[in-house]
Amino acid sequence: MAARTLACIGLGANLGDAAATLAAALSELAGLPDTALGSVSPTYRSAPIDAGGPDFLNAVAVLRTGLSPQELLAGLQRIERQHGRERPYRNAPRTLDLDLLLYGDERIDTPTLSVPHPRLHERAFVLRPLADVAPQAVVPGRGPVSEWLPRVADQRVEKLGS
Ligand code: AMP
Repeated sequence: MAARTLACIGLGANLGDAAATLAAALSELAGLPDTALGSVSPTYRSAPIDAGGPDFLNAVAVLRTGLSPQELLAGLQRIERQHGRERPYRNAPRTLDLDLLLYGDERIDTPTLSVPHPRLHERAFVLRPLADVAPQAVVPGRGPVSEWLPRVADQRVEKLGS
């Protein structure tokens, strides 16, 4: 079997039954080809940033995958579509948002994929669950997650449970 890479995925949902959506998305992530689901963070509730609608539920999952970053992104987008995500306008409320946060220690910058995710280090709703599942994680080009966390302490996020 080809070597697998640790990838961290950010999950967010703020429409419909968001908890059920996250649970379904996790089992769909586990079902991606050549991919195993590792640790999953507790769920957090966060106020929308630059987006409308109700609070988001957020979590981070670790995958061990043989998929390339682009293949993984395509898989994430397929799962988003299965949940009926529509994009009427930028940052519109969404049924399910899946972001490729980290892919090993790689830095990728293409028109369709930026890794590490460009805003991950600014967002408590990503950093808090990421620190739960990967406390030692280092954001390539940015530094340890543990150093970014205190800088987002003013953002309201509430841990709900596993
Ligand atoms: P969003 O609407 O915020 O989910 O953004 C989706 C768009 O971001 C897609 O067109 C992706 O090609 C692009 N994108 C760039 N980098 C990433 C990433 N690391 N994870 C997810 N989507 C990404």
